[in-house]
Amino acid sequence: MSQQSPALSSSEIALALKKLEVLGSVLYVAAHPDDENTRLLAYLSREKMYRTGYLSITRGDGGQNLIGDEQGVELGLIRTQELLAARRIDGAEQFFTRAYDFGFSKSTAEALEIWGKEKILSDVVWVIRNFRPDVIITRFPEDARAGHGHHSASGVLAREAFLAAADTGRFPEHFRYGVGPWQAKRILWNTFNFGGANTTSENQFKLDVGGYLPLLGKSLGELAAESRSQHKSQGFGVPSSRGSSMEYFVPVAGDAPVKDLLDGVNTSWDKLEGSQGISRSLMEINRTYDFRNPSASVKALTRLYQDMATLKPSPWREQKLKELAAIIEAASGLYLEASVTQAYAVQGDSLRMNIQAVNRSVTSVRLLKAGYEYADTILDRELKPNQPFSFRKTLFVPESKANSQPYWLQEEMERGSFNVSDQKQIGPPENSPSYTVRFTVDVEGVPITYEKPVWYKYTDPVKGERYQPVYVVPPVSVNTSPGVVLFRRGKNQEKPVQLTATAYSDIPRADARITYRFGQEVQSITDTGFRLSRGLAKNINLPVSGKRLNGIDKDRLFASIEYSNLKFNQANYLALAQVNYDHIPSIRYFYPDGVTILNLDLQTSGKKVGYIRGAGDKVSESLEEMGYQVSYLGENDLQLSNLRQFDAIVTGVRAYNVHEWLNTHYDDLMAYVREGGNLIVQYNTNSFIGPVRARIGPSNFNISRNRITDENSPVRFLEPSHPLLTWPNRISEKDFEGWVQERGVYFAETPAQGYTQVLAMRDPGEKDELTGSLLVASLGKGRFIYTGLAFFRQLPSGVPGAWRLFANLVSNPNAKINGNGK
Ligand SMILES: [Zn+2]
Repeated sequence: MSQQSPALSSSEIALALKKLEVLGSVLYVAAHPDDENTRLLAYLSREKMYRTGYLSITRGDGGQNLIGDEQGVELGLIRTQELLAARRIDGAEQFFTRAYDFGFSKSTAEALEIWGKEKILSDVVWVIRNFRPDVIITRFPEDARAGHGHHSASGVLAREAFLAAADTGRFPEHFRYGVGPWQAKRILWNTFNFGGANTTSENQFKLDVGGYLPLLGKSLGELAAESRSQHKSQGFGVPSSRGSSMEYFVPVAGDAPVKDLLDGVNTSWDKLEGSQGISRSLMEINRTYDFRNPSASVKALTRLYQDMATLKPSPWREQKLKELAAIIEAASGLYLEASVTQAYAVQGDSLRMNIQAVNRSVTSVRLLKAGYEYADTILDRELKPNQPFSFRKTLFVPESKANSQPYWLQEEMERGSFNVSDQKQIGPPENSPSYTVRFTVDVEGVPITYEKPVWYKYTDPVKGERYQPVYVVPPVSVNTSPGVVLFRRGKNQEKPVQLTATAYSDIPRADARITYRFGQEVQSITDTGFRLSRGLAKNINLPVSGKRLNGIDKDRLFASIEYSNLKFNQANYLALAQVNYDHIPSIRYFYPDGVTILNLDLQTSGKKVGYIRGAGDKVSESLEEMGYQVSYLGENDLQLSNLRQFDAIVTGVRAYNVHEWLNTHYDDLMAYVREGGNLIVQYNTNSFIGPVRARIGPSNFNISRNRITDENSPVRFLEPSHPLLTWPNRISEKDFEGWVQERGVYFAETPAQGYTQVLAMRDPGEKDELTGSLLVASLGKGRFIYTGLAFFRQLPSGVPGAWRLFANLVSNPNAKINGNGK
């Protein structure tokens, strides 16, 4: 997608002019991307014309991903961009704290403890002191009606921050960075009626937010749906609504509103000293604005700009000058662009930049200068109507220029939060662009500076012209694969780890030394013919022996390359990850791509596994590492005659949610089991994300929303001698140590007779044990397994016990199929 904002149309300029008259602001606070009320945001920003912000406490790292296999911080990066795409539609701005979405949380106290309450409260206060909202609105109450510990915690943080932001004794370290205390007028809870909970009532303060914006040809409900449908990784496409629609509010602190959300707040220019002339000329500009010829207003607009610039400096003055500059640019048809033809700015290399300026009206415009980094090019050149002016400039990228690492991923993180030591970086959704060009233009005698990001611009034969961010990268990135290497304890195995060096500029031939460390030993190999050409990768095999791990069952291997005077140390975040989806800009980030080395007592039985991919997971890679031969099965591979060859068939996460065709092959799968097969179904959801219409097992069970969120919660063996816990690996409590994020999700419940429930577990503080994490039934000569255990997280993380348990699930106890090897 092109995230270059398109020029404003004539009617959008009219809306922006109206917004220029309003000096009011509202900050909406909730816990995750997709919690926000996009209809209300659209109403506040596009109808009431307030400066509107959404503060999402987290980036939604812990959610489930419906469009790919990204999880954790990578999913957080995707959801950050989805929020920005949503904000481009509803017109609000986006902010975050440093809190990490560590997965579902059942209590407020747990959420606040894991996040670090003071740290995150400081961030909410910081955003409030910078944004200076007149009114704060929360999505969630502070109690269990919020439905998720993160939700209720966001309510607590918002209320406490409302008070603390005004208190000079709280977080005084903020004041060193040019912000002051800020007292918002009030804080309200935006009550809701969804998910079976109705917290609204007719005696609450209410507003109709279902208006129609003729200048956009859209109802607010349509804008809201478009905005919300950007949350594609969550499958939140929603229908539009048109016509009256009420929102309800309950006061939390500050005085209650009577007529209007911003009762008692002066939202006019009067609040700025010496601004009488400004509101008068603004009214006049609005009155005489000609939709057929916006450029007729430019002269008056530039005079307004001049007057505004003479006001006493204040945050509102800065905000309105920025808005007005954009209006002048749009009304004069001015087009300013800086682009490059490559995606990467390589440290130590240079970049050819193309700069273009076009004045598409009869306005008098001079391009005075273009500035980048520390240099200015003086141009002082008239931009004649509709005559494009462009020139090229070479930009040197110093070796010291920082990598384009997202700011919250630059330092090592805590379990529940990111570390960002530079206070000034906290809050914004993403890094500022790697490069910008400052165009100083003289419009009708008034100099105005526009700062434009430098884009990577290219034309895709199918998608057309595309604009993507430019990323600063080192000359070489270093990846290793696979993610997990498995050694069998006691066996003297040697396996290669592959190191891949990818060059982003030419690296002439030289000696390179590759060093890698694991199991308390450092090894190195020398490559005397090391050279790389831009864009090409070189693979180097590093022999790794399981013997070195004697005693230890898990370790991490990191490698580094030394080459001439440069050292590329993998542990220093030198693997470059790429995430590309059509609905958001391209994402790049660096991570320390070590290899997890496992040295386990792990037995398997059987050879061939059929894998039916679901919504996306990396479980099949672990099966291959265990030694299974994995075939991926699609709709046309599910005839019994084909299925017979497999010792086990495994369905990827949410396979029944995403493939309706699993329904039509139910009989084949059951016949496969009956003949002695082994079918393992990983979790599916019961939510609105694709209904599970298919029958899954030989007899009925329900899929609940039950989950065990504490990865350390105790596990009780209900059937200690069941083969799933004894063969070929004897599972003990130790195998449930070291799990990550959670035990599991979407457990089975109310299974029909014939199912055996193997494990019971309970989250701290919960009354009831859950018994639906691992369900097994015999059918004919075979067996069927449903599991909500989060193998999709545990296996790629190299959790030893999860590997051993999953090996038991896949190992087919029925020798019949094993033996004949069809
Ligand atoms: Zn949420």
